[in-house]
Amino acid sequence: MQILDGTAVRAEILAGLKPRIHQLSRPPGLAVVLVGHNPASEIYVRGKIKACGELGIYSEKITPAESISTGELLAIIDELNRRPEIDGILVQMPLPRQIDSRRVLEAVAPEKDADGFHPVNVGHLVAGRPGPRPCTPAGIIEMLKYYHVPLEGRHAVVIGRSDIVGKPVAIMLLQENATVTICHSKTSNLAEECRRADLLVAAIGKPGLVTGDFIAPGAVVIDVGQNRIADRALAERLGRREEFDRKGFALVGDVHPAEVARTASAYTPVPGGVGPLTIAMLMANTVRLAERHI
Ligand code: NAP
Repeated sequence: MQILDGTAVRAEILAGLKPRIHQLSRPPGLAVVLVGHNPASEIYVRGKIKACGELGIYSEKITPAESISTGELLAIIDELNRRPEIDGILVQMPLPRQIDSRRVLEAVAPEKDADGFHPVNVGHLVAGRPGPRPCTPAGIIEMLKYYHVPLEGRHAVVIGRSDIVGKPVAIMLLQENATVTICHSKTSNLAEECRRADLLVAAIGKPGLVTGDFIAPGAVVIDVGQNRIADRALAERLGRREEFDRKGFALVGDVHPAEVARTASAYTPVPGGVGPLTIAMLMANTVRLAERHI
């Protein structure tokens, strides 16, 4: 059973970006808009800004107050759209309730859409045309290529149909010539569908939902879940009691770690699997956008 190590893939992606950044006439520029003080968002944004600094990407953090209106936020985006030294714009989700998130995402110029969430870029993804791709799904594809996991003609089952992970990864797997099934909360016989998979991608947000009976012997399992659990009994069931007792919580995926290890041929651990790739692909999108602008 092979562990698919996201930190190794990340290192290779970032190493590949450095010479491309050096070749540009100015540093790529990424603006990150973080509204309010959501603790998880603050951690994610810190990671993104740090990665920019390490690579030589210019970054700017814009931190409007929690009470900002949709109109005021749209004005910020409009200004970023106009600034020539800003190649990528990222609006950290979730936004406060009073904000019309869809309008904000659609206000980002498609050619500055560092997250690949703009409908124009979703269209490019579906049509197989170049454009920024959503970072977590793009990272999953990089991981599968790095480890030479065969996709053509294989049966891939994706659990989850979110716009951020499930749907885009399913489309990307289709473009790699896999035969793709998408499952969700209304799927009947979920375990049975999953057992047909050569490649199983779990992007659900439910700790340890995928157990041994979901996994065909020899399947490759990608666990996208990042779940912070505060239930000691659940941590114990997922083999993470020690971590829980040390930290007061445990970070677990959507796949039961011990059961996947018994059945699969390869899997991504949580943490250390898919997680490290998201920021790496954000950096890759920003560099690509800068190359196009320059
Ligand atoms: P989401 O928007 O909540 O979507 C979850 C999907 O799972 C939905 O399509 C839902 O189905 C499906 N689902 C929920 N319960 C199910 C069940 N019992 N059986 C089958 N399907 C079920 O979540 P997301 O944003 O895609 O994120 C999924 C997980 O990935 C989360 O743990 C998140 O933290 C993690 N994540 C990690 C990264 C990273 O590693 N960098 C990035 C993004 C997300 P319906 O559509 O029918 O409701």
